[in-house]
Amino acid sequence: MSFVQTPPVLGNQYREDRVLQSFLRRHVPADTLAAIAPSLDRMGERAVGDLAAAGMAGRSDEPELIQWDAWGNRVDEIRVPEAWRTFARAAVEEGLVATAYERAHGEYSRLHQFALVYLFDRSTKVYTCPLAMTDGCARTLELIAPAALRDRVVTRLTSRDPARAWTSGQWMTERTGGSDVGLSETVARQSPEGWRLYGTKWFTSAITADVALTLARPEGGAAGGRGLALFLVETRNHEGRLNGIRVDRLKEKLGTRMVPTAELTLEGTLATPVAGLSDGVRNIAPMLNITRTWNAVCSAASLRRGVALARAYAARRVAFGCSLGGQAAPPGHARGDAGGVRGGVSPGLPRSRVARARGSWDAERWRCRRAATAPTDRQAHDRAAGGRRRERNARGVRRCRIRRGHRPSGTAA
Ligand SMILES: Cc1cc2nc3c(=O)[nH]c(=O)nc-3n(C[C@H](O)[C@H](O)[C@H](O)COP(=O)(O)OP(=O)(O)OC[C@H]3O[C@@H](n4cnc5c(N)ncnc54)[C@H](O)[C@@H]3O)c2cc1C
Repeated sequence: MSFVQTPPVLGNQYREDRVLQSFLRRHVPADTLAAIAPSLDRMGERAVGDLAAAGMAGRSDEPELIQWDAWGNRVDEIRVPEAWRTFARAAVEEGLVATAYERAHGEYSRLHQFALVYLFDRSTKVYTCPLAMTDGCARTLELIAPAALRDRVVTRLTSRDPARAWTSGQWMTERTGGSDVGLSETVARQSPEGWRLYGTKWFTSAITADVALTLARPEGGAAGGRGLALFLVETRNHEGRLNGIRVDRLKEKLGTRMVPTAELTLEGTLATPVAGLSDGVRNIAPMLNITRTWNAVCSAASLRRGVALARAYAARRVAFGCSLGGQAAPPGHARGDAGGVRGGVSPGLPRSRVARARGSWDAERWRCRRAATAPTDRQAHDRAAGGRRRERNARGVRRCRIRRGHRPSGTAA
């Protein structure tokens, strides 16, 4: 039978991530780390277990917009893939938003939450998008909303009960542009029932959300961002019908295709002002700060998963008679066995040395130098080398060196 490559297999993403573990050891007191480690370990396991399996099973599934029912009623129902519902349940159960608000570990609660997010993110098809906005909404309301509104909504956004938990959207971008939101055209008008919004929101992700924070200009308000007010919208009324919202279409996107992102028309959407009737852009800033932090953490998670996959692949891929993971890398090529988002011969190496190493590189002499070393011996070697490096750092030696075992033959010292 012809050759078929065995696929890479990822292990527990917490246990295998030495960089994450050492980061947490440095920044979290030992007793706190001992208390949060089981939840990280469980998430590390789920990231390569049921969550990854759900994502793979539904990897080409996409949300669908059903605008009309069989009888001609406008319904604008969004059907999401089964995997999306699995991720939603897991996120609530594991407290991906709740952890930050329960504050069980004081100032380390945010760090605990983001470590969970980092482990969850790459297996769940960007379900972190609605979670980031839910977190951002909870924080904004916590900071500036009247107590009654805050208590009613934040408890839902931070719930660990899938039957009670809500998610939030963030509806800012209009056709006038996403950066210069002061140009927003949506207006808010007083009605006997309260404030109603009229306008178009051009980019609204995770549109199955229960609530959304949005901007609109109360009629007669000043121009620019100051004249906008921040409103909370509950997307459905008590009968489960959309609250004066028409879903015009789902975006046809290049990526994040499992995330339902829509264009909306607001046609008299009932909305509650969160903090007065002006300064909407300033008032929504906490939400942006939180969602940006999620973006940064998820970017790091993407890099880390890339390294993890490269390592797992290199362990199984055989070339020149031994696994790639057992061979010294050519100069300038990334090595995956350094763990975490690092590795590579060149990082930290002066340019002149890289150039010299390249010049002396001799593919003929590239042998499976470490092939004879059993993986378990090599892991012991790597651990010992890590220990020696830490000792050196403790003595204040900060220079980054290539480990002797990784230097290809012929490389100038
Ligand atoms: C997948 C996806 C999901 C999204 N989901 C949401 C959502 O849920 N809610 C929401 O409100 N929006 C959402 N957006 C919209 C997104 O936030 C906007 O695209 C973004 O704010 C940029 O706005 P714009 O596309 O109109 O670009 P523009 O505002 O036209 O900007 C174009 C480019 O110019 C740059 N630029 C603008 N001003 C300056 C300046 N002063 N100096 C230097 N450079 C500048 C920008 O950085 C950008 O690169 C989503 C977008 C995408 C792609």
